[in-house]
Amino acid sequence: MTIALPELPFPIAALEPHISARTFEFHHGKHHKAYVDNTNKLIEGTALAGKDLESIIQAAAGDPAKKGLFNNAAQVWNHSFFWKCLKPGGGGKPTGKVAAKIDADLGGYEKFAADFKNAGATQFGSGWAWLVLKDGKLEIAQTANAESPLTKGHKPLLVVDVWEHAYYLDYQNRRPDFLQAFLDHLINWDFVNANLG
Ligand code: MN
Repeated sequence: MTIALPELPFPIAALEPHISARTFEFHHGKHHKAYVDNTNKLIEGTALAGKDLESIIQAAAGDPAKKGLFNNAAQVWNHSFFWKCLKPGGGGKPTGKVAAKIDADLGGYEKFAADFKNAGATQFGSGWAWLVLKDGKLEIAQTANAESPLTKGHKPLLVVDVWEHAYYLDYQNRRPDFLQAFLDHLINWDFVNANLG
């Protein structure tokens, strides 16, 4: 078994004008694909060949000799998860279980939106902004580079990629504008609710 590049869960131009087909041609077709190809090369002929992606990530996490494998495998997972966090006509206020949890744990939607945007905007350099479940409560988190809440035992519910390759073709240096479009037009709250279980 090799790790496969998943298809985008929507047509490549479906999120325009907020994320262009051109961005996905590079972000999915080049960057995500390269992480998949590198992961497969690095596990080939090792004890991790044939393992599922989460097992590979956990095995490589914290092992300096496996840093390259961790970076590539975690980036495969992060991107596959990120695509599912997006949908055409998404964003805005959530409904259902996550709406009630945001009210209870994060001070309501408006505060969540401001805090999540701030987490993405202030992640220095490349990384990710997350909504996670930690000890039964929602938390907003940042990770650098390929780091993942999975390795801390926190359950990822929502993520946005704030590497420059995620937004530079469409927004140049305006990362906060990309984050605002994510909040207002792109978040797949059905996926977030499904992750809450
Ligand atoms: Mn990316």
